[in-house]
Amino acid sequence: MKSVIIVGGGISGLITAIQLARAGTPPTLIEKKVYPFHRVCGEYISGETVPFLKKLGLYPEPFSPPVISRFQLTSVNGKSAYLQLDSGGFGISRYAFDHFLYERAKAAGVHFLLNTQVDQILRRDDRFLVQTKDQKLETDLVVSSFGKRSTLDASLNRSFIKKRSPYIGVKYHIRTDHPNDLIALHNFKDGYCGMSNIEAGKTNLCYLSHRRHLKQYGNLKAMEQAVLFKNPFLKSIFRNSDFLFEKPETINEISFETKGPVDQHILMTGDAAGMIAPLCGNGMAMAIHSSKVLSEYVIRFCNDPRYTRDDLERDYARSWKGIFEKRLLAGRQIQRLFGGEHTSNWMVGMARYAKPVANWLVKKTHGKPF
Ligand SMILES: Cc1cc2nc3c(=O)[nH]c(=O)nc-3n(C[C@H](O)[C@H](O)[C@H](O)COP(=O)(O)OP(=O)(O)OC[C@H]3O[C@@H](n4cnc5c(N)ncnc54)[C@H](O)[C@@H]3O)c2cc1C
Repeated sequence: MKSVIIVGGGISGLITAIQLARAGTPPTLIEKKVYPFHRVCGEYISGETVPFLKKLGLYPEPFSPPVISRFQLTSVNGKSAYLQLDSGGFGISRYAFDHFLYERAKAAGVHFLLNTQVDQILRRDDRFLVQTKDQKLETDLVVSSFGKRSTLDASLNRSFIKKRSPYIGVKYHIRTDHPNDLIALHNFKDGYCGMSNIEAGKTNLCYLSHRRHLKQYGNLKAMEQAVLFKNPFLKSIFRNSDFLFEKPETINEISFETKGPVDQHILMTGDAAGMIAPLCGNGMAMAIHSSKVLSEYVIRFCNDPRYTRDDLERDYARSWKGIFEKRLLAGRQIQRLFGGEHTSNWMVGMARYAKPVANWLVKKTHGKPF
């Protein structure tokens, strides 16, 4: 029987683990944190994932997630437009959803090593050596689902890690007056802020900004007042909401550089293979879809002796590129239009007066139900 180690227990790692375990190859999943925990994310999951999640019994029904079908876009200086979303989505916190998936994974027989960071992945002949502080584990296959940026990217010498990225991400949970069916994207200088409801009457407020503003104003609060509040929508939301965290979740060095689905024979999934611009609200859908595609090939590799490692790597790389490459490119290009006064006004104008074009742009960054 072939063995599989999954490194990183976010959405893609957990869903890959569940599929492999249910197909009779229970993997070991190594996660550096302990569930449940918060992470920076807009927590809007695109509707294309719903058929798959329901089929696997992984749609988070017990949390009654708000169903989202409308989109509001505001410009840097506060012009606004609404769009009906074709596929829409639902909202749930990562705190709740990842923990829900973790419970499902344990029930399926996945073996977890929590609070454990993988420091190195080495190739030994046709096998791998996965190294943590206390252990060296040998395995046939490694699935890397360690997210957008990990110390492992440096140890694997992946080229994107050498380029610094100016983007920082900040997340709050708030109580405010925000309609359940609406996702809003508010522009501000060099950034944008997403807002949508999650479980238990809470709202996610998550923004992407440029580190130069943080440097200039010294701290998040001062930066928010000086930069985000120029958009009157954001000023009003920040002034009239209850902020539920003692301090926000933050990350920096968010990179949208090209990565790739197979690196040094390691199978990459989710953000580890490539990260789409957050404004698309499609990163988790891509993570879930890539884990579905990868799991099918891994299950075949584990069960069919004629299906070789070369077959697996070739088939997964080909499928991944076919499904995601154009979406990543479209996301990068559309992101350039955000955060500028003129470009954000232009986009609001398009969403008001050229709805078919605006819908076409949204579709470019989304996939079909799978
Ligand atoms: C500001 C912002 C807003 C976003 N908003 C949305 C949104 O609204 N909708 C959407 O669909 N997507 C959104 N995304 C993208 C989404 O968060 C990601 O695409 C998604 O989380 C990818 O899942 P993943 O499983 O690949 O990685 P992650 O969910 O990041 O999980 C990676 C896991 O690996 C673990 N790990 C890392 N290194 C190691 C190691 N060495 N050893 C062990 N464990 C390790 C981490 O602790 C983590 O748990 C947003 C992203 C950002 C930055």
